[in-house]
Amino acid sequence: MMKQGIPPAPINYAVWFRYVSGETAALNERVDQLIEEKTPFTDALNEQLFEEFFSECNINQVEQVRHNIQEALRDTASTLTNTGRDAASFGEALERFDASCSTAGSIKDVYGLLSEVLNETRKVKRSFDQVTDDFNVKSQEMDKLQEELEQIRKQASRDSLTGLTNRATFFDLLSGKMTEASAQSLFCLVMLDIDHFKRVNDTFGHLVGDKVIRVVSETLKQSIKGQDTAARYGGEEFVLLLPETGLEGATTLCNKIRGRIADTKLVRTGTREPLGQITISAGVVQYRHGEEQLDLIQRADDALYKSKRNGRNRVTQA
Ligand code: GH3
Ligand code: MG
Ligand code: MG
Repeated sequence: MMKQGIPPAPINYAVWFRYVSGETAALNERVDQLIEEKTPFTDALNEQLFEEFFSECNINQVEQVRHNIQEALRDTASTLTNTGRDAASFGEALERFDASCSTAGSIKDVYGLLSEVLNETRKVKRSFDQVTDDFNVKSQEMDKLQEELEQIRKQASRDSLTGLTNRATFFDLLSGKMTEASAQSLFCLVMLDIDHFKRVNDTFGHLVGDKVIRVVSETLKQSIKGQDTAARYGGEEFVLLLPETGLEGATTLCNKIRGRIADTKLVRTGTREPLGQITISAGVVQYRHGEEQLDLIQRADDALYKSKRNGRNRVTQA
């Protein structure tokens, strides 16, 4: 980090710790490339790396919620300290009452002592009622904060254009699947890429391009089920993670998706001008036990490019 002039901030430590640990091959590949190109690690780039490779990406929102939780806990602690003081003073009053009772000369003295104890009792009751109210309010605040955190967690794992799982979360899931996979239960990985997508952008503009990306994403979402994951890997590239699925099953699913997309008739909003046929190409690979993450992705990529070379709108098994 010193060599690259990277300031000692928590997000930078997170990125560089993971780089040194080598647990995310894609992160290492990206950072090595940046170093090789001598790209300066500006604050913006450091933040971008963090957001790209860590699911908990929205650090500002997380920081705000953390701050709110800390405030709520501090308030609660101070209420408890005050109540503790009232309880201690109540205890002292009771002790005074106990000591004075044995020396009280008349009924009047006892009444006097009793009314003092009653006063203290009322005070301590008010204090405890206040604590109960405060705790009810705080517990509602905590529930709200928890919901906010959950919301942030969900948002942070999604791609904003398509709502699909984002790239960082996909890599987390893939690492998990690779650790879990046993010789009996292997998973399949699929890489998909929209064919001649540059033409769509060039002919109809970027906004229409974005819409096509969303339509393809929707088809992916609707075509998978259960534990399957569809993620946006990059611009117009997607990946499917299919647990407990063999090469044949994954290929059949991909061909179904490919057919659905090819059959979708897309038109421009307003003018109803047809956009022409949109097709995708795919590469399907089954995880080999003990295989490196980069090798797995490379095999899927190679299969995808075979689909491209052989005329696009097709699915190739690695
Ligand atoms: P191929 O069939 O070989 O895949 O051809 P292609 O034209 O699709 O080529 P390539 O995959 O290299 O091009 C992808 C293009 O997608 C390049 C980029 O301008 C565009 N793109 C990437 N991300 C986005 C995005 O979020 N929105 C839009 N509208 N376009 C994007
Ligand atoms: Mg592409
Ligand atoms: Mg493409």
